[in-house]
Amino acid sequence: MSGIYLHVPFCASYCIYCDFYSLLSSPKRMSQYLEAVSREVDCRGDFFKGVSPTRLYIGGGTPSVLPPEILGEIVRKIKFQFFQNVEIEEFTIEANPNDITPDYLKFLQSIGVNRLSMGVQSFCDEHLRWFKRRHSAEGAINAYRMAVEAGFNNISLDLIFGFAHLSDSQWDNNISTILDLRPQHISCYQMSIEKGSELGRLYRKGEYSEPDQDRCANQYYHLSNRLKEAGYDHYEISNFSLPGYHSRHNSSYWQRTPYLGLGPSAHSFDGVSTRLWNPASLAKYSILTDYDQFGETLTETETFNEQIMLGLRQSKGLKISDLDKSLYREVEGVISNLVKSGYLLQEGETIKIPPEKFFISDGIMEQCFL
Ligand code: SF4
Repeated sequence: MSGIYLHVPFCASYCIYCDFYSLLSSPKRMSQYLEAVSREVDCRGDFFKGVSPTRLYIGGGTPSVLPPEILGEIVRKIKFQFFQNVEIEEFTIEANPNDITPDYLKFLQSIGVNRLSMGVQSFCDEHLRWFKRRHSAEGAINAYRMAVEAGFNNISLDLIFGFAHLSDSQWDNNISTILDLRPQHISCYQMSIEKGSELGRLYRKGEYSEPDQDRCANQYYHLSNRLKEAGYDHYEISNFSLPGYHSRHNSSYWQRTPYLGLGPSAHSFDGVSTRLWNPASLAKYSILTDYDQFGETLTETETFNEQIMLGLRQSKGLKISDLDKSLYREVEGVISNLVKSGYLLQEGETIKIPPEKFFISDGIMEQCFL
């Protein structure tokens, strides 16, 4: 199973915690983007070597700031190049709740979008203002309801926990609100301090401190327990879904299937060991002629470590038989000690991190690396 990711590098404003490659949207930049992406689509026709992709994911940035005529044109080109005789099994677009209107939803349906992902982040206006998000809590709830009314039946909402201004009662309230809405999918991330973000600068100036990790862990497990009680499957460290609604696109990253990334800063993977990436600059991307120019081939050790890291993120874990046998022998002792001490579970040929240890999964994975 393979898929396509299109990166839309525009936002209407910047959030305090983000350092993704993104530009403020302007008509000139968007037409430059349309031209450059169209060229890349034309040149990437043989990426999948005859195997048709089945998923399309449009992320950013904020894809919903693209005018419908530009988004429609890019999607038309992508479909023509890659999905001529294939139905797109999962077609996701990320949208800011503020950009959702009944007309916009109709437009998305007309181009085939069947999954909507909205970055809500919190249902508390005080947090949303501090994050510098464009929407309000009420706006997010209305946007969600509008999407349901329009017929979307696969919606993902994002929340953030683990930041200084989030009290446990506010967090519990955020969880209650999302459960009242009951989206098919919920992604939840701990606030991290990214070097290039405004939060990173505040942190370096001593104007922001992170909450302690025990508090973050409690918030994480509180979320996980409440969502589990409500029938959600905690299928990946940061992701929960109602049965059958896991993200096919993101799962293909964790399962190391091939994907093609289009647009500035997008990454591609051939499903074996080669990664390619486009420059994180619209100007440099727009003059690119060789799309294989920036990339790397993973060594056997890097591939092994990546399999460990991506496999153990998923609650279903990792099949030992998928790993290189001789490399596995080098860490077999460490893994068996982790199993004995309860940090890993082994069920036949499968190893996995028990959900109650997900919060410390990075440390567990590192021990399994070569
Ligand atoms: S979090 Fe999303 S909307 Fe906010 S600046 Fe980053 S890419 Fe743009």
